[in-house]
This record gives sequence, C-alpha cells and structure tokens, in this order.
Amino acid sequence: MKHLAKSALCAIYKYSGVMRAQETLAYRAGRSFMTILLFHRVTDDIPRDGLTVGTGWFRDLCKMLRRRFNVQPLAEVMRLLNEGGAAPPRTVAVTFDDCYRDNLFAARILAEQQLPASFFIPSGIVGTDHVFEWDRGLKAMPNLTWDEVREIADLGHEIGSHTVSHPDLAKISEEVMRRELIASRQRIEAEIGRRVRWLAYPFGGRANFRAERLPIVYEAGYEACFSGYGGFVDPSVKGKVIPRDAVPCFDSLLNLELHLSGCLGWMYALKRRVGLI
Ligand SMILES: [Zn+2]
Repeated sequence: MKHLAKSALCAIYKYSGVMRAQETLAYRAGRSFMTILLFHRVTDDIPRDGLTVGTGWFRDLCKMLRRRFNVQPLAEVMRLLNEGGAAPPRTVAVTFDDCYRDNLFAARILAEQQLPASFFIPSGIVGTDHVFEWDRGLKAMPNLTWDEVREIADLGHEIGSHTVSHPDLAKISEEVMRRELIASRQRIEAEIGRRVRWLAYPFGGRANFRAERLPIVYEAGYEACFSGYGGFVDPSVKGKVIPRDAVPCFDSLLNLELHLSGCLGWMYALKRRVGLI
C-alpha cells in the first residue's frame, strides 16, 4: 500500500507540473545538476544487480534520455564544468566501465538514438577470457575484443582508460600506478588511432583512490579522473575526482528522472512530510 502511495506521489509530482516549476526555480538560482551516468552491463543473461540492467529497460532509458535530457559527450560536460557558468538543464553524459562484450550492444542502441557515450576499458583485459573476481559463479560473460572496441569508437563513442589490469590504485605504489596509466593510454591510442583523454579508476569507491595522487593522472596524459560514487557535476568538483552515478541503483525510470532533474531531494522531503518515509 505504502509502495503504491509512493509511486502515486512521484507520478503526481511529475505530471502536475510541480517538478518542472522546481527545476526552473533551481536553474534560475544557478544550481546545476549535470550528471554522469555509470553502467557496467546491459544483458538479460543474468538478473538485474548492482552492475547490470536488462536490455528492454536500457532501450526505454535511452528513449527517455533522448526525449527529455540533454545528453552530451564527456568533453562537453568537462568544458561546461571547467569554464563555469550555468550548464543547460538536464545535461547528462553516459559512461560504461570494464569492457563486457554486451557494451557493444549498448553502444549500438545508444548510436541508434544518437546518444554519445564513453567506454572505459582495462586495456590488458580486452580480447582475453579474464573473469573478474566478483563475477565468479555467474554465467560466463565475454570481454570485448579490440575489433569490437574499434567498432564502438566508429559508432561515434569515445574510449577512455580503466587502467591495464584493473588494480586498486590506492593499494599499489605510485610507480606501478604511473605505469598502469601510461601503458593503458598508449595501448588504447595505438589500437583505435584516437586520443584517450579520460581515466576512470577501478572499483570507483572513495577508498580506491588517493586524492593526493591526482597529479599523477594528469602527468600520465589524462585530463580528468572519474569515480564510481555518485554526485552532481557542479563547481564543487572542479579540479577534483569527478563523480558518476551508478544507474542500477535507481529502481525505476521515473525515480531516475527525478534524480537527474535534481528533484529527488524535494521528493524525499515531501514523502517525509506526508509520513511515507
Ligand atoms: Zn571496473
């Protein structure tokens, strides 16, 4: 019952125009809700989990993004962040980590909807049958080959680095970290014939990267370093690790839309007031 009431409240909030009004007010007040979405897998081979969304859900999401959001490449999000000023409302970038082969399927759906995306790949895992530790016991999920990575790039998407071997960068020496970053960038650039500008660090948590090592990322030829923990891309993150929001955490498209428009905080306040949480 409570669940139904919550869904109804979300729907009323959105369709009554209150949500739009709040977005407009926030935009006029100079608040920016730019967001970078993080995906890992788009597949129906295993149930939805913290890294996985189904293919139908992903298609619906892409249609929603196309219709109601301003989806931009990472380069544009970073330009807006670095140059300051108000980002257009509902600006979103799409990213993938870890080089699962189903990313090629996702890249094609995104291209069909004319949505740009960035794929962060661990260069030493592409073209191998490596199974990530956390996937042991699951149905085998192959990795992209270099030909498939090139196909993704040819669809108009960007390829970024996710290191060579996917180590926890907080647990290895600065020297090994430097080698991982440089070798990965050089290999990807040689394979795809394009510049690699961005790094997403493995595991993505706050404990998996030491902020004082950010200069090593820039020295290794990258222009920005992306996390796997959430947050809006607003002036408070300029020159720091850039947050990304893991999409599987949002159980419905409506919930995700509320979050991306910056309205989820208001929605929670409203739910608290009417006793739903
Ligand atoms: Zn990863």
